[in-house]
Amino acid sequence: MSFLSTPIKAAVNTLTQQLDTPFFVYDLDKLNAHLTRLVAQTDVKLWYAIKANPLSKVIQCLDSAGFNFDVASKGELEQVLAQGISSQRVLNTGPAKSPKQIKHFIGRGVRIFVAESLNQVRWLNQQAQLQNTQLQVLLRVQLRWPEGEKNPLGGDSLTPFGLGCDEWQALNTGDYPALNFDGLHIFQWGNMLSTQKLSELWSQMIAPLTTLANNLNINLKILDLGGGLGIPYTPNDATLEWDGLITALAKIKKDAGVDELWMELGRYAVGECGHYANPVVECKQNYGQQQVILTGGINHLLRPAVTSQDFPAALLRESTAPEQAMSLYGPLCTALDCLGEHTLPSDLNEQDWLVFSQCGAYGFTESMPYFLCHELAAEYVLQNGELTCVRQAEDASHYLR
Ligand SMILES: *Cc1c(COP(=O)(O)O)cnc(C)c1O
Repeated sequence: MSFLSTPIKAAVNTLTQQLDTPFFVYDLDKLNAHLTRLVAQTDVKLWYAIKANPLSKVIQCLDSAGFNFDVASKGELEQVLAQGISSQRVLNTGPAKSPKQIKHFIGRGVRIFVAESLNQVRWLNQQAQLQNTQLQVLLRVQLRWPEGEKNPLGGDSLTPFGLGCDEWQALNTGDYPALNFDGLHIFQWGNMLSTQKLSELWSQMIAPLTTLANNLNINLKILDLGGGLGIPYTPNDATLEWDGLITALAKIKKDAGVDELWMELGRYAVGECGHYANPVVECKQNYGQQQVILTGGINHLLRPAVTSQDFPAALLRESTAPEQAMSLYGPLCTALDCLGEHTLPSDLNEQDWLVFSQCGAYGFTESMPYFLCHELAAEYVLQNGELTCVRQAEDASHYLR
């Protein structure tokens, strides 16, 4: 299995004739075809988690496909609205909703919020009353699985996302007349590649969630399952099959007895449309290992350093040379700047470009572009066979003060 399609290879080849610094290219034709499949069902209402990739052109594809938008900051909200998208199609999640941010969101027309704490509930009600409006609120629940019981994720680690059932029990929903408590939100897993595992996980949540809703006198109309659908990062990884997932989700919806099932997809929606092209600087042998130094590293693609999971890499040029194991490094003066161990043709050299795939989500904006003052990566889109530059590469003088 190859992660590099013929149109993307051709586009990257064209761009490497003109450029000498790393760039991202997003295949919007592939993205549009994928999104068309995702929306061709009526069981799940789909939102796009902007944090996966907030590029204007990407947001526009999700808008055209009929997705709604999950934003977690003022910057994300303004980027969605700047694309001409109505604030009625925006949902706000996130652990740091200050009264000031809530005021701004309501002022901009957002009416749907996921509350992650008792304070957030209080502030949402206050700000809604000040602006004379009514909000739809989902409570974010953080579940733990009792000792000895099967938890598909393994451990129960504490996060700032939402509250446990015991903590939510302190909520008296009647105290907040400006809020309609219409549902619960739960999302505490990531990059899952098994439909079976996901459906076990979701099934186990129904009982504690419906109990909580009953105790709080909430009529559970909406269940929001967040994101967490995975994509393959190696040729051996499984791939999630959408039709099977929808069947599993339809069952969850029925068993939970809710009117609406929501998901906010990030990675699964856009991850596979993105590629990152990166020129080789130098190859060297060191302690018997082949090392490749690249122009860009975790300054443009941080994910391998924080998850220990690499993006798949391929040599842009055709080569019939035998393959060998190589360690790939970026330009930063820290041992963290490693893009993984890969098997690549042994004739790889200083004239070559490598292309990393599956970079459409958690790429450009998740990274640390300022460290060591290298260039910012350019961003291109390929749409209807045409290449467009959305962002040019900039050198450090662009941002240094
Ligand atoms: C990040 C995030 C998502 C998207 O997660 P993916 O695993 O990329 O699909 C969905 N919901 C919330 C609240 C998030 O923070």
